[in-house]
Amino acid sequence: MSDRQYITPVGDVGMYVLDTASWRTHRPVMDKSLCVNCGLCMGYCPVNSIKWAEDKGYYITYDYCKGCGICAEECPRKAISMEREGGNK
Ligand code: SF4
Ligand code: SF4
Repeated sequence: MSDRQYITPVGDVGMYVLDTASWRTHRPVMDKSLCVNCGLCMGYCPVNSIKWAEDKGYYITYDYCKGCGICAEECPRKAISMEREGGNK
């Protein structure tokens, strides 16, 4: 396992430490020219991989992103596209 660790509660058995980024076959890429900073993508991301900063608005981080594509699906501006890891779309 890499240094990336996402901790999640799993019922009675306790906590699991998961390398969720290793699940990713596609990564979300945000086109800032389309983004209107509504924040919906951040709200929908199940692993809190989308952040906000005063100087750049919403942006995607990849330590925990599992490539589920929910952010791309929910963005009302279609500002996020899913691109194959290390290759073409
Ligand atoms: S949902 Fe789309 S428009 Fe809204 S902040 Fe995220 S990328 Fe930008
Ligand atoms: S692809 Fe899934 S895990 Fe990655 S930033 Fe989007 S919603 Fe979050």
